[in-house]
Amino acid sequence: MRSISPPTLFLDFDGVICNSLEECYRSSWMVVSGDSEPPDAAAYRALFAACRPFIRSGEDYVVAHEWAQRQEVPSSQDEFDRSLAAKGPEDLADLKVRLYRVRDALLAHRRSEWLSWNPLYKGMAQALEGQRENEAVWILSTKKASFIGEILAYHGISWPEKRTVYTGNRRKLDLIAEILPEGTATLIDDQIDHLDFSHPTCRCLLALWGYASPAAMKTAPATVSLDDALTLISSFPRPRRDE
Ligand SMILES: [Mg+2]
Repeated sequence: MRSISPPTLFLDFDGVICNSLEECYRSSWMVVSGDSEPPDAAAYRALFAACRPFIRSGEDYVVAHEWAQRQEVPSSQDEFDRSLAAKGPEDLADLKVRLYRVRDALLAHRRSEWLSWNPLYKGMAQALEGQRENEAVWILSTKKASFIGEILAYHGISWPEKRTVYTGNRRKLDLIAEILPEGTATLIDDQIDHLDFSHPTCRCLLALWGYASPAAMKTAPATVSLDDALTLISSFPRPRRDE
């Protein structure tokens, strides 16, 4: 039996499947301050949320709190990236380790509370549940696979870990090429920097319901609405096999 190179769908997690802003807000605050309760003032939350379109990885949320504490908002991805570069790769790697330590502790000691901070976008649970056994549908995220598995299980979905890929610091499109040396892919992500709209084998679509910046939504040549993405996921074909 051999597989015919099937089209394969890769879905980002935060901002495509899961609205994780509350979890990221709280967990990254614990890295910043060590306090369990973050500021609840609407003005502070709005400053933090304004950084969200520029975030690519978990440690960036800690930097978003630093912007909010200064009561400033980055005007562009470049400006936010300069604040990341000013920290340097070692400090950022350390923040990533500390963030995952906080998440581990929350999952161990405040499990259901932590999980409740990770709602899924409307319709996603049903769409994913329907494709649980479709080997052509994958999750590709800068969030560790074990946390994604816990969150999906909380929502009643037992998604296979082998089709949940943690990027670490690798480029998503490089990982897709590695997973899929032949065949074509579609990648849905809400961070435009993960996408290449002229990629020869991977069709890239910017998700419009998550945290894409207004500038990205305006410039992206290929976008997808939540309704259309749910249809695409639900109807995505299973790999055919030659007997
Ligand atoms: Mg995302």
